[in-house]
Amino acid sequence: MSFDMKTTQAIDIAVIGGGAAGFFAAITAAEANPSTRIVIFERGRDVLQKVRISGGGRCNVTHACFDPMELVHFYPRGEKELLGPFMRFAPGDTVEWFAQRGVKLKTEEDGRMFPVTDQSGTIVHCLLQAASQAGVEVRLQSRVEYLAPPKADATPWRMTVNGQKVMARKILVAAGSSPAVWKMLSGLDIQIVDPVPSLFTFNIKDARIQGLLGISVPDAEVSVPDTDLYARGPLLITHWGMSGPAILKCSAWGARELARRNYQFTVSINWTGKTTVEVEAWMGGLRSNSPKKTVLNTPWPEIPARLWQRLIERAGIPLNRIWTEMRKSEEQALLTELVEGAYRVNGKSTFKEEFVTAGGIDLKEIDFRRFGVRRHPGLFAAGEVLNIDAITGGFNFQAAWTGGWLAGQALAGDEG
Ligand SMILES: Cc1cc2nc3c(=O)[nH]c(=O)nc-3n(C[C@H](O)[C@H](O)[C@H](O)COP(=O)(O)OP(=O)(O)OC[C@H]3O[C@@H](n4cnc5c(N)ncnc54)[C@H](O)[C@@H]3O)c2cc1C
Repeated sequence: MSFDMKTTQAIDIAVIGGGAAGFFAAITAAEANPSTRIVIFERGRDVLQKVRISGGGRCNVTHACFDPMELVHFYPRGEKELLGPFMRFAPGDTVEWFAQRGVKLKTEEDGRMFPVTDQSGTIVHCLLQAASQAGVEVRLQSRVEYLAPPKADATPWRMTVNGQKVMARKILVAAGSSPAVWKMLSGLDIQIVDPVPSLFTFNIKDARIQGLLGISVPDAEVSVPDTDLYARGPLLITHWGMSGPAILKCSAWGARELARRNYQFTVSINWTGKTTVEVEAWMGGLRSNSPKKTVLNTPWPEIPARLWQRLIERAGIPLNRIWTEMRKSEEQALLTELVEGAYRVNGKSTFKEEFVTAGGIDLKEIDFRRFGVRRHPGLFAAGEVLNIDAITGGFNFQAAWTGGWLAGQALAGDEG
């Protein structure tokens, strides 16, 4: 494609994608260098759509984990690379950034942080206002279709947007999970890791959990035999199978392995969160202290009665069995059900509150001091377009804010 320098629009910084990362970068660059002309190109009818729907309409902006060394452990992809960036812009900086612009965040019991209004619209409004005050231009329904590097030093990058030619000194790719954009980037010799979903729930049809939707246990362990996949936390039984933090964490860490298995695998559940020895000791205690009580009426303290009944039925224990009459084989079967019950997973479902894609620009391509693409001076990338993703809890937005902020600083500076 030929670009006539006289007829082509020229801008300083073009941001591809009006999402969390694109806005944060554009605002940062514009505030750092007010004379720069910055344009966000957004293919959709509206910007910040994911921020709007995020966290069930409340936007889980970040997580109250303020130590970068601890924070990185929430990122199945990006753990190593994000340490340096988090040293410079972490959740504490996010909280302060929004506070300086009039938005107060609050922390929930599990560490998730939301605007005090409980409305994602508050975050959207803040970002729109900050962008407008900083002089960032936003063009809607503007799809970037083509991107080409400068032909020589000191000439700009070339793009086409809805068929129109646009030139820019620097480009930030913040297009989220977009196969078309990844294809465009691989045309520039940038390695892309194949995308697979992360954060999904497990489809399980099993008599033990059938009809128990809404029932949860507070501390379960989930593992996938023959792998090192392991997660613990609350587990929720749904209409389709299993969900809740323990399952979602397992889906994030296992995103690639479980895709390889085409989401057909067996999962082992420890409903108690305790070791076999501890559960055996608990059973022994009941035999001695409550010998005449039925097993049915003395459930493991954190297992709801209906689930407990299903587990003892599966262990082949009659419902009127009292503890002193438990046979060795029955005890063993119950123990297995409690600490390593095997469930066949047959497919996955999207987690409606938050889902992300694992995969994207290979992290080897990125200089994480600036979120610059190593092989292309003047080209930057931040947000979900990178092969970075986290478990649920506000960590995915934090990666977008951190990458956006560091890229924004670099975009505003003189170096490429
Ligand atoms: C339902 C849901 C709820 C979520 N809730 C949370 C939450 O509460 N907390 C959390 O931390 N994470 C949450 N996430 C994840 C979070 O939304 C993403 O990690 C985050 O939005 C990534 O930001 P981004 O800027 O990289 O990409 P995006 O927000 O996806 O923005 C990319 C933008 O680029 C545009 N674009 C794509 N291609 C082009 C093109 N060729 N030209 C121009 N524009 C283009 C897209 O239209 C889009 O607007 C949620 C995700 C979903 C789906």
